[in-house]
Amino acid sequence: MSAQPQTVLVVEDEASIASFVALYLKNAGYGVRTASTGTEALSVAASDSPALIVLDLMLPDIDGIEVCKRIRQRSDVPILMLTARDEDVDKIIGLEVGADDYLTKPFNPRELVARVKSVLRRSAPARQDPENAIIKHGDLTVDSGRREVRVVEEEIQLAPKEFDLLWELLDHRGLVLTRDQLLERVWGYTFAGDTRTVDVHVRQLRRKLGDASPIVTVWGVGYKVGPAREAGNQQD
Ligand code: CA
Repeated sequence: MSAQPQTVLVVEDEASIASFVALYLKNAGYGVRTASTGTEALSVAASDSPALIVLDLMLPDIDGIEVCKRIRQRSDVPILMLTARDEDVDKIIGLEVGADDYLTKPFNPRELVARVKSVLRRSAPARQDPENAIIKHGDLTVDSGRREVRVVEEEIQLAPKEFDLLWELLDHRGLVLTRDQLLERVWGYTFAGDTRTVDVHVRQLRRKLGDASPIVTVWGVGYKVGPAREAGNQQD
């Protein structure tokens, strides 16, 4: 992250939720502004130009969906909606409302931080700091700007979704991502296939990357990135 922290606007009237979300985001290196009403959110969004907005659906004055629509009329700022009900989701991320992502309450604050990072990364039109777009992991170098993957010096050709899947896992090193999470993030919400798609792509990545593959299966859960491998270590 660059020296100037990106500011996240947290819009939530429940003070306890707003404060723990703010705490986790600050710990992750973001600057945080909070707003407890829709009116305040619209005002801060206009005056402070936050990098991302975490927006609760249930607010005391203007509801989150309306706030999101109004912000969308003049700004493409990424918006992560918080909702208490799964059934709101199609509407929230649909074109009419235009949120970028959502979390259903109750949520794990680490998951929220991971989503914030992911949304900010996806929404960055031009990367201000190209170094942030390169992940090195053992013998593996992944450059998201050039969309290049190298094992030591050799470039490995990956299909677009293979690349996105590898990046998503590497960008969440230390976290286990479920097949459903990977489907959502890499293939998008409208994808109607089943989670075997994820397994198929993981198999392809392992085949193409060989011993440099960092992907570890977490049985019954999903996948994660294991510790960086030195050349010559055994694949699991
Ligand atoms: Ca609320």
